[in-house]
Amino acid sequence: MASYTSPLAESLAEDLLQRFDRYVRIDTQAARERTGCPSTPGQLVLAALLAAELLEIGLADAAVDDNGYVTATLSASGGGDPRTVIGLISHMDTSPDAPGAGVVPIVHRDYGGGVIELPREGTVLDPSTEPHLGSRAGHDIVTSSGDTLLGADDKAGVAEIMTAVAHLQAHPELARPTIRICFTPDEEIGEGATLFDVAAFGARCAYTIDGSSLGEIQDETFSALGATITVTGVEVHPGLATGILVNAARVAAEIVAALPADLTPETTSGRDGFIHVYEIAGEAGSARIRAILRDFDDELLAGHASLLRSVAEEVVARTPGSSLTVDVVEQYPNMRAHLEPFPEVVEHAIQAIRSEGLEPLREPIRGGTDGSQLSAKGLPTPNIFTGGHAYHSVREWASLQDMAAAAAVIVRLSAAWAASGQPGATASI
Ligand SMILES: [Zn+2]
Repeated sequence: MASYTSPLAESLAEDLLQRFDRYVRIDTQAARERTGCPSTPGQLVLAALLAAELLEIGLADAAVDDNGYVTATLSASGGGDPRTVIGLISHMDTSPDAPGAGVVPIVHRDYGGGVIELPREGTVLDPSTEPHLGSRAGHDIVTSSGDTLLGADDKAGVAEIMTAVAHLQAHPELARPTIRICFTPDEEIGEGATLFDVAAFGARCAYTIDGSSLGEIQDETFSALGATITVTGVEVHPGLATGILVNAARVAAEIVAALPADLTPETTSGRDGFIHVYEIAGEAGSARIRAILRDFDDELLAGHASLLRSVAEEVVARTPGSSLTVDVVEQYPNMRAHLEPFPEVVEHAIQAIRSEGLEPLREPIRGGTDGSQLSAKGLPTPNIFTGGHAYHSVREWASLQDMAAAAAVIVRLSAAWAASGQPGATASI
């Protein structure tokens, strides 16, 4: 079929679709408040299934650890150097931002390029408002039934790794390095890398398969801070309040209103950062503002934090009787600085994407991935596309042809690393 990027991608598509369909039906939605890892038991159900399937493929060390991390090793073969160890990582959980239980995927074969009406909740995918959908005419588009996430974020990545690994295991004649696999829990709540054992993983680098558009290779993420501002006022019965009441809720509202309107996620794009107030809660006596701060540049990010602090302090200073605490915590760092010393990691990914006949897209991620923290922990981990779109919404969709391209890129990435380990050799894939 013409819409596949290569015969390899086409040969992987059927296995990929079956795996994807199996995985998305399992409810692995993460929960923001967690008391253990993983945050929800459904993630362990998928973890057990993946470990069993990896064993079935022939990866004898496949296992799930106490925190729900699935790991396995695909041994080097075809003359590839076993001492070259690379990693492949995807996350099993899905976002808490839209319903995640009861996913019933629908495959819209040979999509005509128009509006896709889903059977539930009147959900519609409109190519005039869904970037990339209109250009996917002739593809097989996978959606939910309209009332849930699809879960392509990141079960597309999981299915692509599984499919590529099954293909490589079935083709020992293809030169490959040692490949370590890890499927992580709780990425969507920022905890995917927390209990990831980098030393035990033992790879020189890894790739998260957790991007979106065809051809993406991402080696730059936001640097991220979280801020909590607590305002304390003076509470009193409103009938006796004259000259006494200091209303913390009003002070909190003033602080938010005084923040620059052009420094928000909805008014910025590209390389610009922002301050995003995502919660205001409070009463007259005490109020809390929670915000996330993002930028690609650490100095600019620190500037956003001091701006937030100074705005809050000014408002409180002109409101006698009110007081303030500001807590700022680091959430994740921009991975770029941790990847720059190892240019071959991104170069091999670019080579693999080109071998699949695609033009590499190197857009910075306006967000973070497991790779942000893993790169900072000493495992350089850029991010590769999955072919999924409209993440964290009931309009989430994925192109089977683009997902197959991602699986093929993983196969070619393995070849690129095997070739680089051979003295004087160049990768021919
Ligand atoms: Zn993801």
